[in-house]
Amino acid sequence: MDTAQLIDGKAVAANLRKEIAEQVKLRSEKGLPAPGLAVVLIGEDPASKVYVGSKVKACEEVGFVSRSYRMDVETTQGDLLALIDELNADAEIHGILVQLPLPKQIDVQSVIERIDPKKDVDGFHPYNLGRLAGKAPTLRPCTPYGCMRLLKAYGIDPMGKKAVVVGASNIVGRPVALELLMERATVTVCHSKTQDLPAELADADIVIAAVGIPNFIKGEWLKQGAVVIDVGINRLANGKLTGDVDFEAARAKVAAITPVPGGAGPMTIACLLQNTLEACEAMEAA
Ligand code: NDP
Repeated sequence: MDTAQLIDGKAVAANLRKEIAEQVKLRSEKGLPAPGLAVVLIGEDPASKVYVGSKVKACEEVGFVSRSYRMDVETTQGDLLALIDELNADAEIHGILVQLPLPKQIDVQSVIERIDPKKDVDGFHPYNLGRLAGKAPTLRPCTPYGCMRLLKAYGIDPMGKKAVVVGASNIVGRPVALELLMERATVTVCHSKTQDLPAELADADIVIAAVGIPNFIKGEWLKQGAVVIDVGINRLANGKLTGDVDFEAARAKVAAITPVPGGAGPMTIACLLQNTLEACEAMEAA
């Protein structure tokens, strides 16, 4: 039985981080400041703490200015918006990231919309999402941007292909569908109300899985020779991480697949750095 090519997100992300670090060095040689990212964490959610820690470390490794703000779980929306206003006005900061999820007293949409779109390195502001929908992307959501960079790194051109996105969230499914459409794939978006998921997947050339259910997509649902990007990160009872796709069954059938961990995951942070660099350059050019 054939075994699929592994799409090595760890290696692609490492290359991108290296390129970004080189850009930062070149900027410094020209007397230009390092890009600056501010990360805001509210509360003590353990997974959020890990994500924030990784983002801060990645920033430091490429030579960015990195600032992290920790706020109490009881923080009011007013206090958070006031901090965002300060960061919007701070010339040393080019990217602002408020780690989600937020405590229930804070309205997420108000927070997303308060961030200056030019500093919205998560790409969640309606301005940036609208630009992506209008085929003129500015700052793009990091995980979808990472998926597209992975496809590109492996020479997989979505043009004319049938792409099926499983999952329709604001942070992954919807924006990755817009990315694929921009590359002129024929895109189907599936979600929990989709009637017959195996039928949708049966002729998919590209599958993006972002559901959040371990091993949910079965090998037999996939088309022979498909390309699979598994965005899912699910922790099993034994502590191991697994994706949304039944990896062992899928790899015997498809042409290429991302492992979990080591596939889409590392690309998200690398794209956050890329967005921060792009935000910095765009502000200088304005
Ligand atoms: P959400 O929970 O926000 O969205 C899940 C989506 O899956 C929803 O659109 C939901 O449908 C859909 N869904 C749920 N059940 C089914 C089903 N039975 N059949 C088809 N679709 C279904 O998750 P996220 O998008 O935030 O995350 C998805 C996964 O990706 C998670 O494992 C998460 O950990 C991972 N992730 C990884 C990142 C990375 O850095 N690599 C970044 C972000 C997420 P409906 O809309 O109808 O509710």
